[in-house]
Amino acid sequence: IPPETNLALGEDPIEETEKVVGIADKHQFQAETQKLLHIVAESLYTEREVFIRELVSNASDAIEKARHMQLTNQQIMNDDVPFEIRIGTDEDKKTLIIQDTGVGMNKEELIRNLGRIGYSGSGDFIKKLGENPDKASIIGQFGVGFYSCFMVGHTIKVYSKSAAPGSTGYLWESDGSGSYTISEADGVSRGTKIVIHLKPNSYEYAKKATVETVIKKYSNFVGFPIVLNGTPV
Ligand code: ADP
Ligand code: MG
Repeated sequence: IPPETNLALGEDPIEETEKVVGIADKHQFQAETQKLLHIVAESLYTEREVFIRELVSNASDAIEKARHMQLTNQQIMNDDVPFEIRIGTDEDKKTLIIQDTGVGMNKEELIRNLGRIGYSGSGDFIKKLGENPDKASIIGQFGVGFYSCFMVGHTIKVYSKSAAPGSTGYLWESDGSGSYTISEADGVSRGTKIVIHLKPNSYEYAKKATVETVIKKYSNFVGFPIVLNGTPV
């Protein structure tokens, strides 16, 4: 007897099959990042759905980079794996997974790219946040990139494996408070898989229909196939 599931016949959820190996390495977020994360996590910003746009656009950028490597005759891992964005919802586990088969990140890149606010003007951003009581409008105005997933998730797990040949897979994990951990992981595919464990006020994003509606709003701007629970969007 098949287990109970919210998936329609023929739908294919994304499973979290990676396995951590060894001991997790603990890191503190940069002070400014901690401030930003706190504000994002507590924010009552009503257009929380923009986190999907941010993650899909990062996935698309990452695939573009992998494709560029290929076009410039650089070797990439598992070059038979198609360039695509895979999204999986799970109403029982209350998770949303966004995976890409792009360029991925090694350990240093995970620390550098996800551990601090990278974009120019971030100093201004923090200053504005400090001064302005309407923090939601500032989040909307600037966009907060990857960190926007902390609006909807209490825990974020990022599995990533760089496209550079011979790379190791890693798990980056954080609950959005002061620190994050990085561990080596087995079974990680080329690219990045972001697992969002949703907060109770955001369980709607574990529903296929909600996610599909949001993706359709933005997908015209994405140059790679998006597959939701096994079906092209
Ligand atoms: P931005 O996209 O404006 O640079 P983000 O906060 O969205 O800012 O992302 C920060 C950085 O993290 C990106 O520039 C990229 O280097 C890295 N990154 C985020 N998501 C991915 C991904 N899916 N694959 C590879 N790198 C990623
Ligand atoms: Mg981005």
